[in-house]
Amino acid sequence: MTPACADGVLCTCCGRLYEASKGCPSIGIPAGTPWEDIPMNWRCPDCGAGRSSFESVEVIYQKAYCVLAEF
Ligand SMILES: [Zn+2]
Repeated sequence: MTPACADGVLCTCCGRLYEASKGCPSIGIPAGTPWEDIPMNWRCPDCGAGRSSFESVEVIYQKAYCVLAEF
């Protein structure tokens, strides 16, 4: 199963999802901007968490799978 938002990066503080295909035009990030190209000083527009608080949806899914696999 491939999640619909596999290119997404999730804010672990507030749950905001950044999707590369959509970008974040309201703060000047055009659609199609990969997470790697987001400036290091970028902060979550919702809660102000730094870039390091974000985790890729892909990684989160992998972790979830590992947890499930232990049972
Ligand atoms: Zn946030």
